Amino acid sequence: MYLHGTSRINEQGHLEIGGCDTVKLAEQYGTPLYMVDEAHIRNRMRQFVDAFEQTCLSYQVAYASKAFSTLAMCRIVDEEGLLLDVVSDGELYTALQAGFPPERIYFHGNNKTLAELDMALAAGVGLFVVDNFTELTRLDRMATEQESKARILLRTTPGVEAHTHDYIQTGQEDSKFGFDYQSGQVIEAVQYALSSSGLELLGFHCHIGSQIFETEGFSLAIGKMADLCKECLESLGFQTTILNLGGGFGIRYNDQDQPLPVSNYVQAIEDGVRKGFQGREIPEIWVEPGRSIVGEAGTTLYTVGTMKEVPGVRKYIAVDGGMNDNPRTALYQASYEAMLANRGAEPPTETVSIAGKLCESGDMLIWDATLPNVKDGDLLAVSCTGAYNYSMSNNYNRVRRPAVVFLYEGKSDLVVRRESLLDLLQNDQLPDRLKKGQAPHHQPNPILEVEGTGSE
Ligand SMILES: *Cc1c(COP(=O)(O)O)cnc(C)c1O
Repeated sequence: MYLHGTSRINEQGHLEIGGCDTVKLAEQYGTPLYMVDEAHIRNRMRQFVDAFEQTCLSYQVAYASKAFSTLAMCRIVDEEGLLLDVVSDGELYTALQAGFPPERIYFHGNNKTLAELDMALAAGVGLFVVDNFTELTRLDRMATEQESKARILLRTTPGVEAHTHDYIQTGQEDSKFGFDYQSGQVIEAVQYALSSSGLELLGFHCHIGSQIFETEGFSLAIGKMADLCKECLESLGFQTTILNLGGGFGIRYNDQDQPLPVSNYVQAIEDGVRKGFQGREIPEIWVEPGRSIVGEAGTTLYTVGTMKEVPGVRKYIAVDGGMNDNPRTALYQASYEAMLANRGAEPPTETVSIAGKLCESGDMLIWDATLPNVKDGDLLAVSCTGAYNYSMSNNYNRVRRPAVVFLYEGKSDLVVRRESLLDLLQNDQLPDRLKKGQAPHHQPNPILEVEGTGSE
């Protein structure tokens, strides 16, 4: 397992993260446990900011909440001076409860409900990334009624889609998100916004994909977006103030992944922008990474339980979590690395597959991990689980979601407590007629009654 951030093997041969011995963390907090390397998160945020500082661009770096959103995370995003992107009332509520300044929050999503738009307007969020015509007219009407103006970007599909290692340029982008550029939809939306009473158009947004390892896709998309800005200036007199280029910067899950340093992506963005906006005023450039901020900072700790050997085929090792705390292997064929946190110095001797404990054959965490001979009770650490794990976790099989701890300079802090059995019932309601002892239990069964008389 590759050791990211502050992870290291300590003198006892244990995995240590943020100066904390993970074997002790298992004793203190139990397993499964999401462990987060706070220094690594802060470091990644600073890498983006520092890289933009090296350019001559005006910029903002935002964090995409959907990768991992908790009160503690919102505090870190605020402390590091980033903007925050939210896509639901829940993410917005979390940010507001964390005291995140509303003007530094902006709202994404392809189907924001009326209630969500209301909540965001009332909270005074910085801007809305408007996704489609329904939302454009809704937001215009709502802001007009309140005699205010909603600041907006228009989400655009530039016709560039990243498939991790290559890029498809499509004429007509088939996506549920955003206004299509090729067909002229986005220009129509610009015209609407400019003549509206409730909207203040500031610019455009695009997001070409996720876990991207090259800069080419960004360069292509920037070219298209620059053309769009030029067209808006020349034909509508609209000067773009903000150009948001989305997220999607890749991280290293395993040795097949070769992400670029953050500075390379930012350099490519600067080059693309300079080329695209030759001689014209360059808008403020925004990026909104999620995975590349928190992904590598997370490690999940499990306890090994049962094992099963299918002779000549494979050995299954089952842990005390699974697709409820990490659905990515099942959902995306994601590939992870692991190590034994309690025997970190021992060389790997066998290839095993790591299964979860849920009732689903697809509940696998890792196919073919190389580990020392695994025993019942060993602690298994799976790296790179900081993004889209806790945020995608669920209670399938009524399994409780793990706790989350932040590890920083030798101290551990619980930021999400482990769910209790009682938590699982907190939304359940039992109608009176189903309460034990309250309703007649036995209803005569007409079929049985008929059979009874017939046997005479
Ligand atoms: C998911 C998403 C992001 C973050 O993507 P990462 O791959 O986690 O960096 C940013 N912007 C939009 C619009 C997204 O949908």
